Amino acid sequence: AKRTGGNHCTMFEPAMRERAARRADIESDLRLALVEEQLFVVYQPVVGLREDGGTDFSAGVEALVRWQHPARGVVPPFEFIQVAEESGLIGALGDFVLRRACRDFMAWQRELGSGAPRLLAVNLSRAQLAQPDWPATVQQILDLEGMHPSQLQLEVTESLAAQDQQVQDRLHELKAIGITLALDDFGTGYSSLSSLHQLPVDTVKIDRSFVCQADTSQHHRVLIEATVKVAQSLGMNTVAEGIETEAQAAAVRGQQCAKGQGYLFSRPLTSPALLDWLRAALPA
Ligand code: C2E
Ligand code: CA
Ligand code: CA
Ligand code: CA
Repeated sequence: AKRTGGNHCTMFEPAMRERAARRADIESDLRLALVEEQLFVVYQPVVGLREDGGTDFSAGVEALVRWQHPARGVVPPFEFIQVAEESGLIGALGDFVLRRACRDFMAWQRELGSGAPRLLAVNLSRAQLAQPDWPATVQQILDLEGMHPSQLQLEVTESLAAQDQQVQDRLHELKAIGITLALDDFGTGYSSLSSLHQLPVDTVKIDRSFVCQADTSQHHRVLIEATVKVAQSLGMNTVAEGIETEAQAAAVRGQQCAKGQGYLFSRPLTSPALLDWLRAALPA
């Protein structure tokens, strides 16, 4: 830490040192975790909200990484994604998640046929896009697993999608392969409805902070309605994130949002648990 003298340092240094030590711990543990395969992937269903009020359980899934730490149990991503990004480990982590998710996705196709999820969404971080040859890596993984590019959707945040020209170029390269892009956490960043048309995305994911008040707040309902309308007019799909109650699902349906995701339908599941969930959802 920079010494500027006085009380300032004595107040801040212990907390900073503690944070740095914890970060270093996570970084070295994570390095090991990648080698010893302590990371795994869970999948949360993304369901179709049909106009007749029905639910399409096979619309898709979102892949979410988990870490089974030998001493600390399951570590949630918010505790290690940022460390992975800052330490350069995100490249290996991201490739692991993508590979594993594509492999599981193809296994579901073999197990369930037409009842299998039709779309696989995988979260993308900035450092992955910084590698010039990353679109080629994605193409290789798809070829290796025998997966069609249109079955893969990569999720990017607003701040990432609105980045510099280099990132934009890379996103367009991915789209040229036939992969679609989703704008994650929409509504939480700085970009607005009026700039949506500038982003090369196919799907807008409406953030949980709007969805959780869809049933109780007229203001939030209006924002969801406006987002769906603008997205539709631009030929984009919408997904409502974090639906926890029937009332929220009904409110979101009422705004013509075509897809939903949240604990109401299912928590993120391991691959075998997802298979059971999908089998149970299949018409008898
Ligand atoms: P996200 O991409 O916005 O993912 C959705 C998060 O919301 C997940 O948390 C999911 O478990 C949670 N969620 C889903 N439905 C509900 C609900 O109804 N209520 C509530 N309260 N939460 C719900 P998770 O798995 O802890 O992931 C947190 C974030 O970590 C993700 O947010 C994403 O930004 C990041 N992340 C997760 N996996 C990966 C990955 O493989 N790569 C990268 N780069 N980031 C990842
Ligand atoms: Ca996401
Ligand atoms: Ca999200
Ligand atoms: Ca998020």
